[in-house]
Amino acid sequence: TTFFDLGISKSLIKGLKELNIKTPSQIQKEAIPILLKNNKDFIGLAQTGTGKTAAFGLPILQNINPKKDHVQALILAPTRELVQQIQKQLFKFTKYSDHKIFAEGVYGGEKMDVQLKRLQRATHIIVATPGRLLDFIERGEIDIKNINTLVLDEADEMLSMGFQQDLNKILAYTEGSRHTWLFSATMPEGIQSMVKTYMAKDAVRVE
Ligand code: AMP
Repeated sequence: TTFFDLGISKSLIKGLKELNIKTPSQIQKEAIPILLKNNKDFIGLAQTGTGKTAAFGLPILQNINPKKDHVQALILAPTRELVQQIQKQLFKFTKYSDHKIFAEGVYGGEKMDVQLKRLQRATHIIVATPGRLLDFIERGEIDIKNINTLVLDEADEMLSMGFQQDLNKILAYTEGSRHTWLFSATMPEGIQSMVKTYMAKDAVRVE
């Protein structure tokens, strides 16, 4: 199986080649065809290092409409480091894309006004830690009501870091408008109850 077989565009494949990503990993093979359709919720049991960033990142990039300048996808991750890592990967994947796709990072530990200034530009994708994102939402600075996709990356880590309340609020806030893709290395009770409360009954599960 190639990335082309999975439905990934030639320009994204060119970007992948430069990162030495040539053959899809297991999670990529299973997730990409489903996520490209973006018509179902998705639960992926996956560790780090399995290529899950590309598994959700490539379908998101391919589904962005670059002509629309509102936020179309939101990726939540537990730490500033992971947020920056995801953002960097998305940027590299799109090196050969015809249209510029803009992904901005939102995380604690950097001045809010600095991040806010960056968010004034057209932003297609926000990659964020839950706490700082919620601050922006509650101040009315970020509007994520019209997103198509919400990714929860390393969901179990986000819960163990105490982001449960923040996640609940963000999930409730964006309810209805989007599909949710949850990635987690483990499925503790807290994750299962989040899945039950916020995700569709017919969510696709991949291990
Ligand atoms: P991740 O699990 O998303 O954190 O990815 C771990 C590392 O594997 C990153 O450095 C990716 O660039 C790399 N990677 C992702 N997918 C593949 C692939 N299909 N083949 C080789 N390397 C990959």
